[in-house]
Amino acid sequence: MGKHMCQHFKKNDIVTVAIEDIGTEGEGIGRVDGFTLFVKDAVMGDVVEARITKAKKQYAYARLERLLSASPFRTSPRCPHYRQCGGCQLQALDYARQLEFKQQKVINHLIRIGGFDRSEIDGVIEPIIGMEEPYRYRNKAQYPVGTDREGHVVTGFYAGRTHTIVPNTDCCLGVEENREILEVIIAHMEKYLITSYDETTGRGLVRHILIRKGFSTGEIMVCVVINGGWSRKGFSGREEYIPHQSELLSELAVLSGMTSVSVSINTEKTNVIMGKEIHTIWGSPVIHDMIHVRDMRREGFPRTGQKLTFAISPLSFYQVNPIQTEKLYSLALEYAGLTGQEALWDLYCGIGTISLFLASKARQVCGVEMIPQAVEDARANARENGISNALFYMGKAEEVLPSFYEDNQKYEQSDLRHPDVIVVDPPRKGCDSACLRTMIEMRPNRIIYVSCDSATLARDLRILCDGGYKMEKIRAVDQFGHTVHVEVACCLQRVIS
Ligand code: SAH
Repeated sequence: MGKHMCQHFKKNDIVTVAIEDIGTEGEGIGRVDGFTLFVKDAVMGDVVEARITKAKKQYAYARLERLLSASPFRTSPRCPHYRQCGGCQLQALDYARQLEFKQQKVINHLIRIGGFDRSEIDGVIEPIIGMEEPYRYRNKAQYPVGTDREGHVVTGFYAGRTHTIVPNTDCCLGVEENREILEVIIAHMEKYLITSYDETTGRGLVRHILIRKGFSTGEIMVCVVINGGWSRKGFSGREEYIPHQSELLSELAVLSGMTSVSVSINTEKTNVIMGKEIHTIWGSPVIHDMIHVRDMRREGFPRTGQKLTFAISPLSFYQVNPIQTEKLYSLALEYAGLTGQEALWDLYCGIGTISLFLASKARQVCGVEMIPQAVEDARANARENGISNALFYMGKAEEVLPSFYEDNQKYEQSDLRHPDVIVVDPPRKGCDSACLRTMIEMRPNRIIYVSCDSATLARDLRILCDGGYKMEKIRAVDQFGHTVHVEVACCLQRVIS
């Protein structure tokens, strides 16, 4: 194709292209006469016919139309829905290559966003820790509930970038128990003509179904997210949130592992799944899971002695891949290099998972978390594990930390004003700048940054390094096989000037 012709790529054009790279969203990248194509579902090493979906001056988005020659890195995806479903982006790519891609993604972000030198990164980065079995690893699933064209209740996953439900009750990243639970709820809805929520009108009852399993205890939690419309006193005098609730509960109760059933009321027109109001309607308000520390310096990362038990309530954050989480936390713990004497902060602490492991090896730990239920779980978890040197503050890290620092000005020597270590584990958007600024002023010896988004990690590491720290070690842990997401732990050491 001639050069000037390429300027005129338009929607629906079919282009032949060799795929040479993987984009940050997992798409295949190829070039035709200096024009870049981002091809969904094409794998590095493929030669494909791609259909243009959106054309710009220098580049275009396209979709795999026909595979002309398959990449040696291709593998057959286990899920029949993987191309429509927005959940996985890399299932067609061999798992070993997925790990290489993620390692490279972290390096690219450190260079492009963080402004670090390649040689500096090479000196500190360790190899990514992959999963032994990259399927059935998720302990949590949030299924949207909708209605199909024939009027049947369906549940599944959203197609990429839309809210169209691809019906599927058995995502192969999740646990096998999900299917039966979903089928029981759907059958109940069909039997009693219970409506699913309609996002456009704001009507209908059932919005989402959250299922969580404690891998080491087998305990299962189901939380049905409803649009508060239906609620009345049942025969027993107890509040009912779902028509024929007791019949539904008796069917769920007999499923293996069932420990907790609740409803969450969300009447807002929002993409936020969970409503703040939770009512336990059967069993316990929480499930439990255990996490064991692993030896990260030994082959295969064997479990070592220490283990802690955590209570998890529906609104609390809990890492979705418990096996990789053990490795991630163990790495963070090793990076913290504790002797038993230290005072530290654990910001964005959730239910206190990292905090409590740190507490067993330090003198004092202070956790900060903004979700009230998670803070309650964290305090209960400290008690249940017999840990008395961990304290939890409810609030935003960017507010709690600066106000603690300012309010305690007269205590210049206070341990928590100038702690030995600060651990942070923020959501994807990273740390707020006020939080980073205070961390630098507190001048801990070490900062351990645990991140689920390497782009914001790179941005924040630049700020911390400019504030007197240097990267000592950084290592990715694959918590999310078949997706483009990657978890990273980084150890920063204060540079004494
Ligand atoms: N370290 C925990 C939780 C990490 S997830 C674990 O590994 O389980 C991030 C947590 O930060 C969530 O619990 C979320 O509720 C909380 N969070 C989000 N923004 C926050 C903020 N600005 N201040 C404090 N906590 C926040």
